[in-house]
Amino acid sequence: MKRIGVLTSGGDAPGMNAAIRAVVRTALYHGLEVYGIRRGYAGLLAGEIEPMSSPSVGGIINRGGTILRTARSEEFRTETGLHQAAQRLTQHGIDALVVIGGDGSMRGAVALRQYADLRVMGIPATIDNDIPGTDYSIGFDTAVNTALDAIDKIRDTAYSHERVFIVEVMGRHNGFIALEVGLAGGAEAILIPEVPYDLSDLLRRLDESYRRGKHSSIIVVAEGAVRATDVQKFLETHTPYHIRALVLGHMQRGGSPTAFDRVLATQLGVLAVERLLQGKTDEMVGIEGGKLITVPIEYVQMATKTVDARKLDIATMMAI
Ligand code: ATP
Repeated sequence: MKRIGVLTSGGDAPGMNAAIRAVVRTALYHGLEVYGIRRGYAGLLAGEIEPMSSPSVGGIINRGGTILRTARSEEFRTETGLHQAAQRLTQHGIDALVVIGGDGSMRGAVALRQYADLRVMGIPATIDNDIPGTDYSIGFDTAVNTALDAIDKIRDTAYSHERVFIVEVMGRHNGFIALEVGLAGGAEAILIPEVPYDLSDLLRRLDESYRRGKHSSIIVVAEGAVRATDVQKFLETHTPYHIRALVLGHMQRGGSPTAFDRVLATQLGVLAVERLLQGKTDEMVGIEGGKLITVPIEYVQMATKTVDARKLDIATMMAI
C-alpha cells in the first residue's frame, strides 16, 4: 500500500476536519501518499482528487464542516457509478480509501468494494449518532452541546415570561440528540420517534406541573417524532398557556467541535490508517465502553442502534 485516499460524505459533522487531519498526518508519518477526494462520492465520480500535504490540513482542527466538502450522490449507487468510481481510484493509483461519514456512506464503501480492488476503512461521523458498532460518532457531542446552549438561553426567557417552549432538535429517524439534550437541559418532556407518545398525556403532565407551581416549561422534540409547531397547535387549543415553538435546524450541524469530538476524531483517524497499514480492510473504527475498537463495516447495514430508553424514564422522573 502506497497511496491512500480520504473523503467525507453525507451530512457534515463538526470534527470531520480533525479526522481528515489525523488521517493525512498519520499516513504521511508512515511514508504514505495521501489524496483528498472532494465532495464525497460525487467528487470521486467527477475525479476531483488532489494530493494532500501536512500544511494542507493545518489550522483546521478547530473548524466545523469539512474542508473536503461533502455531498450525496444518487449516481454512485448505480452499477455504472460504482464501476466508474473504482476506475477513478485505479487511475490515481489509490489502493486504500478512508471514508468519513454516516451509515449511508459506510454502505457506499461496502458497495464500492464489490467493484474495486482496494482496502477500505470507515470512520463514523454524523451528528445523528445512529451508526451501529460505535457508542459515539464524530459530531454528536458538538451538536448536543450546541443545542444545549440554545436551550439554556431559551430557558431564561421561558422562566421570565412564564412560557412553554417546544424546541425541535435534529434526528430524522432517531432521538439520540433529543434525549441527550433534553436530559442535560432539564426538559419537562422529551418526544422521540422510538418511544410512542401521547399529546394528551403531555397536556396532563403540563397541567400537573402548573398546579405544582411551575410556570414555565421546555419540551424537547426530535424532528422525526413530531413537528414543534404541531405540538404548539395542540397545546394552544387545550390550554391557556403561552406556547412558543422553536426549530433549531442546521445551526446544530455547524460550529467548532468540542474537545471530545476533536480527540475522538483524531484517535479514530490515526486508528483507521494504522489498521490499513496492518493489512486490514472492510472495517469501521469506533469507540465502545471508552475503548477504541473496530467492527466489520458490513455490521452497519446488519444492525440497528437503539436509544437508551432508561434515559427517558430518568428525564420523566426529573420532571416531577
Ligand atoms: P448522514 O447520517 O449525515 O445523513 P450518511 O452517510 O448516512 O450521512 P447518506 O446520504 O445516507 O448519508 O449516504 C451518503 C452517500 O453514500 C449517498 O449519497 C450515496 O452516494 C452513498 N450510499 C448510501 N447508501 C448506499 C448504498 N446502499 N450503496 C451505494 N452507495 C450508497
